[in-house]
Amino acid sequence: MPNSDLSFMHPYYMGAYAENDHVFEKILLEFLRDHAYWRRNFHPENRPPIPTNAPYREHFNEFLAQMQQELHTLSADLKKSVPFFSPRYMGHMAADLLLPGVLAQIMTILYNPNNVSDDAAPATLDKELEVGFQLARMFGYNIDDDREPNAWGHLTSGGTVANYEGVWNLRAVRCYPLALAEAAQALELTLPNVGPKRQPLGKYTKWELFNFSIRQTVLLMRECISHIKSNQNKKDFHTFTRKIMEESVAHLGMAGFFLKHPELKLPVLMVPVSAHYSWEKSMKILGLGSGNLVPVNTDGHMRMKMEHLEELLEDHYRRQIPVLGVVGVLGSTEFGSVDPINRIVEFRKKYFQKGFYFGVHVDAAWGGYMASLFRMPDGSFIPHDEIRSKFNYFPHEGTWLAFKAVAECDSVTVDPHKLGYLPFPCGAFVSRDSGVLDFISQKAAYVFDVKEDSTKLPVKKKLLSLGQYIMEGSKPGSAAAAAYVTHRCIPLHHDGFGQIMAQSMRACEYFFDKIQEVKKKLKGLVTITVPFPPDTNLICFAINPKNNTYLALMNHFSRKVFNNMKINPNQPLQAHDFFGSCTSLFKAGLETEEANRILSELGINPETFCEHVSDRTREADHIYVIRHTLMNPWLMYEDNGMNYIDRYCLFIERAIDKEMHRAIRRK
Ligand SMILES: *Cc1c(COP(=O)(O)O)cnc(C)c1O
Repeated sequence: MPNSDLSFMHPYYMGAYAENDHVFEKILLEFLRDHAYWRRNFHPENRPPIPTNAPYREHFNEFLAQMQQELHTLSADLKKSVPFFSPRYMGHMAADLLLPGVLAQIMTILYNPNNVSDDAAPATLDKELEVGFQLARMFGYNIDDDREPNAWGHLTSGGTVANYEGVWNLRAVRCYPLALAEAAQALELTLPNVGPKRQPLGKYTKWELFNFSIRQTVLLMRECISHIKSNQNKKDFHTFTRKIMEESVAHLGMAGFFLKHPELKLPVLMVPVSAHYSWEKSMKILGLGSGNLVPVNTDGHMRMKMEHLEELLEDHYRRQIPVLGVVGVLGSTEFGSVDPINRIVEFRKKYFQKGFYFGVHVDAAWGGYMASLFRMPDGSFIPHDEIRSKFNYFPHEGTWLAFKAVAECDSVTVDPHKLGYLPFPCGAFVSRDSGVLDFISQKAAYVFDVKEDSTKLPVKKKLLSLGQYIMEGSKPGSAAAAAYVTHRCIPLHHDGFGQIMAQSMRACEYFFDKIQEVKKKLKGLVTITVPFPPDTNLICFAINPKNNTYLALMNHFSRKVFNNMKINPNQPLQAHDFFGSCTSLFKAGLETEEANRILSELGINPETFCEHVSDRTREADHIYVIRHTLMNPWLMYEDNGMNYIDRYCLFIERAIDKEMHRAIRRK
């Protein structure tokens, strides 16, 4: 689909040449003045503390001079920044920012709201919650309070913290039935018949208690709490709820909790080897231990390998090792690959029938916004052939099924500061079941107030003290304002944000085709391979000089080529025509047959691919690839018969040619 019309995006961004600076300036000035009037109108009867003659004093002017000096220096330093705005930049996951987001953010910073709770952010907290609902709707979750489960979401500093919350939430829910049973037993309370077997809690084994589903646990808690509330006096109710708290994993810590339940092995979390390193950090930080992170192999497309996942699940089931959750990645950081989320959900159904449950979290930090492409304004999910007809390759049926299945997963990480084109910091955590809030709350409100049971409060009301339910404390209301205004202007469905995503996918398809041409053209010089056809909008290729069979040499050569498009703080930006990024395929993350396939495509002897044993093998323990993130809105903009991808291809041809000749000369 060549030459699609980009004009719909003309008002969206500042522009690669700052074409829309006049819009920016006008709006910013208007709202700066508006802000000043707002201050002035707050008790104008008071005398202003800074007198009108202050600017004539020496100290005042000295300070201004110094401030200006420092700002000039900062401004000069900032010129070293990465030109994310430019279609010549295809490196990391950043591009130009959406105007409504930047303007809302700058405007809001002047008011400095703190979204930790509504008394510090009366204007922006509900916008943050609304953004949570907007994202939830995009993923196909129910957000209607009258129906359960109903979703909620909030903003974080990024995907990393959202991932931590995914694990934290799962841990809190999964451990709860054990704590409840322990408390009931200690206080010799009789509870009603509960859970899937409708029997006394004490009759369940610890394995069974840990394998209650999220929904079952939410209902279990409500049933028990309301039973005790109506059958015991207020004091006993308090004793009970306090005891549950004392038996919780939050109170006892991982060590204390699992020491109390020696029948239960430590739970693990399964993630594909392609997962972001924040998952390993989450295990360390939450005390689950990075040793309990179970890596699942990836297949020839860098997607989670389902045969391996099944093998691992079966093995854990047989050995009764609890699985806290399985994480599926929707757009991996390095390759943009999409895990078969639908298959993970199927496995969950299958094993849950056998009494073996695990949570499913989707790490869609990168690919989350692509869900907008699949959803109609009325909320329906667009059929595969309909979407497929608008592209050359995208979406692969598996990709479509994966996006569809997010609606059945428990929680999602999505980064508005990546494919949402919003300023940092802006990540998001979205949970399908707001019932989970009662397990992570800092002060289970039902402990303090018997009359007003917090478990019955509407989500929005509960979340007015957002800080009680999240990992962070003080947080920028400006990020919420940015996301909210942006989603209002460009809604999260096919006809809104979906169009930006479609443009990005088209650029990627164009790139994919174009690189085949480069490959043919340079056949006599180098061998180029795209190791995996892209699932989304990231694309990598490897380059091997003709007749070379050594991996270390190929990597060395590719690094030289890459140096032509690498940010170098000691050189002016203009010294480079294009910027890309690079990544490596490590032996541990690749199945042997896949590694062999890629290496044979490149003409590399697989025996030269070795494990990392010493510094001398360092250059041979990975396959080095050049990586491109194709999210800039103007990649397909055509000028003089060429778009930026055409230009990039010419650039890469020249860079390869140059490095080949250098290498030959050195010989
Ligand atoms: C970027 C990314 C993260 C981490 O998000 P931050 O916003 O950098 O904290 C996690 N997972 C995936 C798949 C990512 O792409």
